Amino acid sequence: MSADLTELYQQVILDHNRRPRNRGKLPTANRVAHGDNPTCGDQCSVYLRMDGARIAEISFDGSGCAISQASASLMTTQAKGKTGPEVQALYKHFHDIVTTGNAPEEISDLAAFAGVHSFPARIKCATLGWHAALEALKSDPLPTTTESHLD
Ligand code: ZN
Repeated sequence: MSADLTELYQQVILDHNRRPRNRGKLPTANRVAHGDNPTCGDQCSVYLRMDGARIAEISFDGSGCAISQASASLMTTQAKGKTGPEVQALYKHFHDIVTTGNAPEEISDLAAFAGVHSFPARIKCATLGWHAALEALKSDPLPTTTESHLD
């Protein structure tokens, strides 16, 4: 990978870290799951509002290192509008990138995390948000809530 590409990929991670997308609890969520990565201290909750088989809305909330938070932010942008099997396929693609460092030919934001493969301890940071999202997809739907806000 050229130095220019490495820099570009770092920009993607920095950008998601500074300006996380879809961050915060989703009041309309009907699925939720929590993941944590004790070796690094990362926490991530993922909230989904499913519309049939598709993710209509998605958000994450959590704290931890830059890799974990940027990856969760990017995951939400990739998973929105997808079905469970589509998210699973994306995760497999992402997992290949972070474990082998082999990014696909075309530049995608997911490839920003290719450098993670040089730091095996950080792979769990990069996959935390994805694991939480897949757990949320498998979880039982939450009971329907009313429109009233309790907090
Ligand atoms: Zn971490």
